[in-house]
Amino acid sequence: MTPITTFFRNLESKCCAACGQVMSEQAESYMTECFSCQDLATRDAYLYYHTKK
Ligand SMILES: [Zn+2]
Repeated sequence: MTPITTFFRNLESKCCAACGQVMSEQAESYMTECFSCQDLATRDAYLYYHTKK
């Protein structure tokens, strides 16, 4: 069950939630961030996890 507002929001403005880059080629996905931002976030989380004592 998908909220209709979210559905239309994804349709109209499919751009990265982090950097604002348009992701027209990822319209079929439910990602809210572009690949570079996801990679960056993943790397940050990875480094954070492995560097915290
Ligand atoms: Zn981005």
